[in-house]
Amino acid sequence: MAAGLLVVLSGPSGVGKGTVCRQLLALRPSLQLSVSLTTRQPRPEEKSGCDYEFAAPSHFQKLISEDAFLEWAVVYGHYYGTLGKRVEENLLQGTDLLLEIDVQGALQIRRRLAEAVLIFLAPPSMEALRERIAGRGTEDAVRISRRLKAAQQELAAYQLYDYLVVNSRVEDAAAAIDAIIAAEKCRVSRGARPPASGGEQR
Ligand code: 5GP
Repeated sequence: MAAGLLVVLSGPSGVGKGTVCRQLLALRPSLQLSVSLTTRQPRPEEKSGCDYEFAAPSHFQKLISEDAFLEWAVVYGHYYGTLGKRVEENLLQGTDLLLEIDVQGALQIRRRLAEAVLIFLAPPSMEALRERIAGRGTEDAVRISRRLKAAQQELAAYQLYDYLVVNSRVEDAAAAIDAIIAAEKCRVSRGARPPASGGEQR
């Protein structure tokens, strides 16, 4: 059985990663979304074990000291991380896994797992990003400018990724990522092979 594909999607806050992921999972139901651990508080609509696993900072620190994370990062003052064992188990079973993580985490994966496919989701413009962050209504003016400043730095990292997808329309962005996954799964270097010979004569 071929190993599963590890797909990493990242991009600045407000670019629409969550919406694009949901659309992508609808297009490709065999893709599993990896559930991260975080020390931030759950939002009202979030379920533990589904959106995130919510952990106490002391538990997160313990897992860091045990080297349990494939990657982890501090994002806006909270810890976020992906458990290595879980990723390994899924990939060995042939399951394709989607990680929706920040740029710091994606670059750690780049160093540790060269075969991962890194996709950067970019906004159509900085103005569109500002409108999306402000439109969510969850951030005040100071936080919006902090996120936009962080976004400028994150955008500069796109060159370290394998693919760049611009999220002008969610459906198009999801379709582009779906096509990237389809193409990666056809790579001979990833183990794609023709069917075994059935002994037919020419
Ligand atoms: P939020 O708290 O809004 O769900 O996520 C904040 C940021 O943390 C987003 O950019 C999201 O992609 C990132 N994030 C979520 N899970 C992980 C993770 O496991 N590792 C890293 N490095 N970033 C994560």
